[in-house]
Amino acid sequence: MKRILTFTLALTFTLTAEASEKFAGIHLDSSIPSFQAKIIKEDLTYLHNNSIKDIDSQFKSMIEVPKIDGAHLYNWVYNRVKFIIGEDYQLRGRNLVSQKGHRFPSTPIPPSVLNRTNQYAGTIIMSNVGAELYLLGKLDNILKGIKLDNKSVFAPSPRVGILQVGEGHFLERLLINKNLNSEANKIKRLGTIIHEARHSDGHSEHIGFIHNKCPEGHSLGGFAACEASSNGPYSLEAVAMKTFLLNCRTCSVEDKTKIQTAIADAFGRVIVRSHVKTEAQLRQEMASYLPVIDFYIGYIAANPKLGATYVKELERLKSKVKECEEQLKELKAPIKPQRLDPRPEGPFEEVSVEKSSNLMKASLAR
Ligand SMILES: [Zn+2]
Repeated sequence: MKRILTFTLALTFTLTAEASEKFAGIHLDSSIPSFQAKIIKEDLTYLHNNSIKDIDSQFKSMIEVPKIDGAHLYNWVYNRVKFIIGEDYQLRGRNLVSQKGHRFPSTPIPPSVLNRTNQYAGTIIMSNVGAELYLLGKLDNILKGIKLDNKSVFAPSPRVGILQVGEGHFLERLLINKNLNSEANKIKRLGTIIHEARHSDGHSEHIGFIHNKCPEGHSLGGFAACEASSNGPYSLEAVAMKTFLLNCRTCSVEDKTKIQTAIADAFGRVIVRSHVKTEAQLRQEMASYLPVIDFYIGYIAANPKLGATYVKELERLKSKVKECEEQLKELKAPIKPQRLDPRPEGPFEEVSVEKSSNLMKASLAR
């Protein structure tokens, strides 16, 4: 494990771009290894120049653009992503800046932030640092930001658009096929970009379309890697990949299957229920608790001096059965994921499609 890490660091060190650059208006920081920056640029170009013919109907209703074509989709991303930093960028020490006296809107904070759950501790693929900085700033009531090329970039809105990209975004085992530049891999990575861009949206309790805890029984149960809305990052990622797949010219049957699996995985994280158990599982669980409860009741009655430990255990078992009953009720009255208002809070500038397209064209002409 350590060797892999050392190797990766050495590789990143030698391949890190010498200077930051702007591509299609987006600041690509010098902390991004140059091979990664090259791929990001090619992916964004693919998005912008995509002549989308077939559109998934859900994508159309979920993404707030007047027209679905490459230029409008790039514009949607550009309005939510303005800076990309590399995995080696240290989000601490002198790189962090703050400014007193900023007035944050007096909207509520997502409850999950006040009571943070476990983050999924896997390989870093990508994260929306801007939304996080905004949220942390709002919590501490101080404007927060980071230093990029000796300039302070503050986050007065989740729309500041700072993403951090990790090596997972480029790892073969997390992609579709061996060819990093293939159309299928571009589709997978663009799904991730669109997912992260969505985290720049939302307000109040759903600021940054912050993830919810995955329910009990889910493969990611307990981790903040699910969503209860119908238009959050995972939903959007899924329908965006669906649309790109419909228009893929070079995807093989195997590529298509793998992208469809990735779509299913993203949809699998859209879940309102508090559990993913079946009725049979719940009934079985209850059936195994009930005799134990009966035993404890009899045992405690026969031995009144047993003490609090036994009574406590009995109460715990009873509450488990109650939980199962609640979960059964939930199964019988399924709730549908709700659409959330994507409008972000705080000040931000909405860039026109003409302007973002011109930025792209100017970069491609260089
Ligand atoms: Zn996310």
